[in-house]
Amino acid sequence: MGIDLGGTGSRAIGMVGDEVAIAVDVPTRELGAGSETERVERLARLVESVVPVGTELAAVGIGASGPVDVDAGVIHNQATLPWFTGFPVAGQLRNRIGVPVSIDNDAVAAAFGEHRAGAGEQSDRLLMVTLGTGVGVAMLVDGRPVRGADGAHPEGGHIPITSDPQRCYCGLTGCFEQAASRSTLQQKLSEAMGGATIGRQLIAAGITRAADDERIRAVFQDYAVAVGRGLAALHTLWQPRVTVIGGSAAVSLPLIREDVLRQLDRSQDYRIDVELREATLGDNAGAIGAALAITATA
Ligand SMILES: [Zn+2]
Repeated sequence: MGIDLGGTGSRAIGMVGDEVAIAVDVPTRELGAGSETERVERLARLVESVVPVGTELAAVGIGASGPVDVDAGVIHNQATLPWFTGFPVAGQLRNRIGVPVSIDNDAVAAAFGEHRAGAGEQSDRLLMVTLGTGVGVAMLVDGRPVRGADGAHPEGGHIPITSDPQRCYCGLTGCFEQAASRSTLQQKLSEAMGGATIGRQLIAAGITRAADDERIRAVFQDYAVAVGRGLAALHTLWQPRVTVIGGSAAVSLPLIREDVLRQLDRSQDYRIDVELREATLGDNAGAIGAALAITATA
């Protein structure tokens, strides 16, 4: 089974073979209440709740938002995942449930999912960008994630792309994530729409109303510029063959695609031809990727 441990919500998926059998959503804050032991216990119960009757749990893969020490099984994300940060959550869960537990960055997990079972279609150079609470970035080369010298996952959501002076929790200013996260899009849409609707419906409502409302259209145009500038930097460095956009703001891709592509347009000699696709596993990508790929190496 796989868990996508997000900054806002978490999803647990039980899989039988390559098929999703059971999916459960929980607010991460709820999982994170109480002591470390209680949090691990709640994760264990979540795991048990998605094991289909008559099947046996083989392994657990976790995709977690932010920096993750894959070898030690420790999350380091005080900013958006404080409840599961700084202690060996994978090891403690393994002790509690008695099967292998592995953990990786959630963008890596989503990339594994889309690569093996979604829009990535086994591409040899796949860039995954998730537009969620934050912005997650993972680059898979021949199915393997690009890692830093210390084994850590490069936090591509924190490349500076704007001159916005507001400081990001990572310490820099003008980060890709600050400008292109779903949270930022929601906030700007809420302002443009007078705070009328909340949550995910806000983006859907914004997409519907963008055709007739200049202010809303401008929000999506600005958002496209932010997404496009981040992609331009990542494409320049990594030259992927396919880029898959996931996370809950990916639904806006059909609306912003042309404006995003305009940000990627450059002179002939510097042109990088990348196919831009919307994720097909949707919100399941992280949990499926965690289950399929991370558990395969557990
Ligand atoms: Zn940052």
